[in-house]
Amino acid sequence: MLIAKPDYFDRFRCIAGDCPDSCCKEWDVQVDEASAAVYRSLPGDLGDRLREVLSTEDGETVMTIIDGRCPMWRQDGLCRIQAELGEESLCKTCREFPRLTHDYGDFVELGLELSCPEAAKFILNSGRPSIITAETEGGEEPEYDTEAMDVLKATRETALDILFDSSRNVPESLALFLLYGYQAQSELDGGEILPFQPEAALESVWEFLKPGDPIEMTAFFSALELLTPDWAHLLQTPSPAPWSEHHRALAGYLTQRYWLQAVSDYDLACRVKFIVISCLLVQHLGGDIFRTAQLFSKEIENNIDNVEAILDAAYSHPAFTDDKILGMLLK
Ligand code: SF4
Repeated sequence: MLIAKPDYFDRFRCIAGDCPDSCCKEWDVQVDEASAAVYRSLPGDLGDRLREVLSTEDGETVMTIIDGRCPMWRQDGLCRIQAELGEESLCKTCREFPRLTHDYGDFVELGLELSCPEAAKFILNSGRPSIITAETEGGEEPEYDTEAMDVLKATRETALDILFDSSRNVPESLALFLLYGYQAQSELDGGEILPFQPEAALESVWEFLKPGDPIEMTAFFSALELLTPDWAHLLQTPSPAPWSEHHRALAGYLTQRYWLQAVSDYDLACRVKFIVISCLLVQHLGGDIFRTAQLFSKEIENNIDNVEAILDAAYSHPAFTDDKILGMLLK
């Protein structure tokens, strides 16, 4: 089985007490069944506390946050379970975060998640990351459509080439990325495989561009489920930032993470739009790109309802028509 990961993956280390945010804030932690059973059987103070704060509903156990924090979080920023029982006693969620695993059966892609501030530094500073691959034992027969996956793997490489063409500025690269997304969708639908012609693609849309409406865009995001006051504040007080290579890296991260997921429903175009809209939003909100992108991930990527709302809106919301998105990028 092939395992692929970005070259920075193994260099990541949690900075625990020095973390400016912490994954122990604001969200309930899902606890796997085996860990929950161990926690509930522990003797002493720690066991008593865990029995108080673990709750199970519909077969899913969570550590309920109290006063905005995981109840196992200590004043020194460390985790009480880790401190008293050792790292191996952490539940699966805490042991793995922010490491992502996309397991397709016969191959696995690993990555880091942007919602961790330390991971965000690797992701946004990396440019186009080199992907390291290794063969291991194991794996299963793939259950996905192998023909579609081949198209998605090939088109993802082309999309990344377009995105990381440094002879173009970032918004122009994103516009071409969006236009190429439709060509890739057509290939996924069984259409002819054609070389992408960037100049012709730009020429074809120039007369259709409309001014975008960033206020309409932020209004849409403000109506989604919000987790933190910081995110709500950013949405209310946008301060657009100049485009930078960090925005290009953000698009690269999202492409690496979401492009192949179109194998599940053959809908690549809405994911491409999701990536472009996300970059437009982060640029429009401005502030410190590392903090804004990290908050974006925490609020959006970690809430499946929010992700699905954006995927739907990519087709139906008046702020996200192609002419307006391209207008925001190219005008
Ligand atoms: S968010 Fe990242 S750096 Fe911060 S505590 Fe969690 S894993 Fe560690």
